[in-house]
Amino acid sequence: MPITSEYAIDAQKVERKISEQLYLHAPAANITVLCIALLYYFFWQPYTGPLTQIAWPALMFLAAGYRLLLWYRRKRNPAQHSAAGWIKHYTIATGFTGLAWGSIFFIPYSNHDFVLYSGLVMIAFGVTAASISILTASLTAFFSYSFPIISGFAIATYQLNDSSYFLFIIVITIYYLMLFTFAQNTNRQFLKSIRLEFQNQDLILKLQAEIEQRESLIRARTEELEKSNQAIIDTKNRLQNVITGAELGYWDWNYQTGVYEVNDRWLEMLGLSRDDINNDNSDWSDRIHPDDRENMMAAVEKSIKLQTPYIVDIRMRHKKGHWAWIQCSGSLIESTPGAHAPLRLCGTYQDISYRKTIEKELEYQAKHDYLTNLFNRTELEKRFQEEIIRARRYQHKFCTFMIDIDHFKQINDRYGHQSGDHVLKQFSAFLQDTIRTSDYVARYGGEEFVVILPETAVNEAEELAERLRAKTSELSIELNKASLSITISIGIACYPQHGKLYDKLLEASDSAMYKAKQMGRNRIHAAEL
Ligand code: GH3
Ligand code: MG
Ligand code: MG
Repeated sequence: MPITSEYAIDAQKVERKISEQLYLHAPAANITVLCIALLYYFFWQPYTGPLTQIAWPALMFLAAGYRLLLWYRRKRNPAQHSAAGWIKHYTIATGFTGLAWGSIFFIPYSNHDFVLYSGLVMIAFGVTAASISILTASLTAFFSYSFPIISGFAIATYQLNDSSYFLFIIVITIYYLMLFTFAQNTNRQFLKSIRLEFQNQDLILKLQAEIEQRESLIRARTEELEKSNQAIIDTKNRLQNVITGAELGYWDWNYQTGVYEVNDRWLEMLGLSRDDINNDNSDWSDRIHPDDRENMMAAVEKSIKLQTPYIVDIRMRHKKGHWAWIQCSGSLIESTPGAHAPLRLCGTYQDISYRKTIEKELEYQAKHDYLTNLFNRTELEKRFQEEIIRARRYQHKFCTFMIDIDHFKQINDRYGHQSGDHVLKQFSAFLQDTIRTSDYVARYGGEEFVVILPETAVNEAEELAERLRAKTSELSIELNKASLSITISIGIACYPQHGKLYDKLLEASDSAMYKAKQMGRNRIHAAEL
């Protein structure tokens, strides 16, 4: 708060201070007065009678004694009076002392002379001058002390009725006025200093209160900060645990500087150590499988442009040379104001090699027959339909074989089911090897197989079927210690003459095969028009 003259100070506080100041000098001042009284007792011996010689010091003893008594009472029990009360009592006692001093001028002397009189005056006014510093706290007290002295002097001097003393009165009056002005200034300074002291005390208190308030605010803020720091640490740890628990690789890419930071798991997935990678991402794209690179870059670019996260499955080169399947996810997490330029991207790596293997296996199983590894019926139908579409679009021809192993039941019956399976596997492998690379073969049923021969006319198909039949009959299948030969019957149907739809063509080839069976087996037969 600003220090101003309008600063309001409690009047009682000022009074307490004045009272303190007045009583502070009481012992020294009054003991001095007692000593002076004693001195006068000896001084007056040659000039006055024994009564006066005792009376005046006795008066001074009373005055000084009373003030000492007041001082003692206040010291013992300050609460007996208010500060104003103590001031009042002391002022009255001081007035009484002043009166005692003033009476000094009325003492009759045996040989009255100017030098003696001047000595008395100088002592009395010297004492008055000395009282300025003692009574400076209260102008009233000073006045009640000094006024009786000057009055006593003026009246007594006037009664002398000696014109030589008038100049003396004037000089003393001026001297007194100067003393009074001096006392007034001193008193003003004293009050000002009290005012400043209180103001400073108030300021200090206010500052202390403000400091305490600020300190408690800082404490509260610090606690808040500590709590939020702890929350951040907890969240970070939790996130770290999740990343570690999920076995995720983590990357953080500063798009501006190119600095690319990764965690240990990221490195581990690719069998790398920290020294193997650059600290920017300049070597990153080199690790991506060439076939996946374009896909990956497109995903990142799209993500930056649309500000949406991406997930891409890519292959990355493992240090040992093989390709690891990585599911790479990421998103733009910071960009320049207004999203004009990307600043930072973060994301995770997940090793999905095992999942990819399983997926591949499942995909294979979905398409292939479990026993023979040839295409299964579902895949047959899919490829068959594709072939029909292609043949229709380009007006091509294609043919299909329905192959059935002759008397297969007997093989099962004679050698057991497992041997039957073995024969099926051996024949399937042989079939796969024998057909052209452009042809497809599928296991249609138990010992029935379908071959699709794209871009093949019926006469060419007949030739191929015949060659296949002949080669099959020459095939020797090893069964434990025995060796076995089989024959097959083949029904041929061609697009478009024997049917334009899958069912029709299969039916036609099946009927043709049935015919071949009827005709004695181990033969081929083309569907009729
Ligand atoms: P044909 O075709 O010459 O008329 O005589 P076949 O004995 O081959 O006739 P059929 O179609 O009646 O018999 C087929 C047999 O194939 C019946 C079945 O036990 C057997 N079979 C079907 N699927 C499997 C299989 O997965 N493993 C084994 N071992 N045998 C199978
Ligand atoms: Mg059959
Ligand atoms: Mg059969």
